[in-house]
Amino acid sequence: MAAKQRLLEAETEALELDARYGHLKAEAIVELAVERFRDAGGIAAISSFGADSAALLHMVASVDRSVPVVFLDTGQHFGETLEYRDQLAEDLGLENLRVIHPRQETLLTRDPDGKLHASDPDQCCEIRKVEPMARAVEPYAAWFTGRKRYQSATRAKMPVFEAVGPRIRINPLARWTTADQAAYMRAHNLRENPLVAFGYFSVGCFPCTEPVKAGEDPRSGRWAGRAKTECGIHLPGLEELTTAA
Ligand code: SF4
Repeated sequence: MAAKQRLLEAETEALELDARYGHLKAEAIVELAVERFRDAGGIAAISSFGADSAALLHMVASVDRSVPVVFLDTGQHFGETLEYRDQLAEDLGLENLRVIHPRQETLLTRDPDGKLHASDPDQCCEIRKVEPMARAVEPYAAWFTGRKRYQSATRAKMPVFEAVGPRIRINPLARWTTADQAAYMRAHNLRENPLVAFGYFSVGCFPCTEPVKAGEDPRSGRWAGRAKTECGIHLPGLEELTTAA
């Protein structure tokens, strides 16, 4: 009963926050969310250290460098992304970078040769991203993502504040365009993931990411040739896991 009550409270809280603050500039949303949740359950930023990650992390660090920044290390990332993670963390003075890994025992039983991505990418994302993500957000009342509405049909109506189980997910950049992203990167002279220069406008795991062809959607290089468009860490499966957590 108490768990159900918390779900309802999170729904109400997210709706109220979205109605009250969802229209504000991204920087203001980050600041007020850190102030609200830092001592009230905790808040973190989840980052892939991909093509667009630097802007949100810069905003978070500008408010409080000790806010936890969580990176899900799937074990299948590009080496460039891992190097970029460490360089950007140093640039921004991030004081609390946390790296979450898949469960070793799960990998040994379900993906012993690391090739599950080829035969069943949904299962691969489940054990390498979704389950670790549920563990990653478990200590916090709220977390930031850098997602934007233009990126895909599944994100087109995304609110800025939304309930995920008993927690609040905050998407301060929801309304941003590619021009907003580029302008912020330029204005703050932020380091870019080196893969962007090679046409990787959305960066995920090495086996599932290709450069984007001219004129195509920035996320078209993710799981190219498959119907899959999301890894699942932003989809209802996570809600079920975090609700159970
Ligand atoms: S993106 Fe590919 S390699 Fe990474 S977890 Fe998902 S299926 Fe596996």
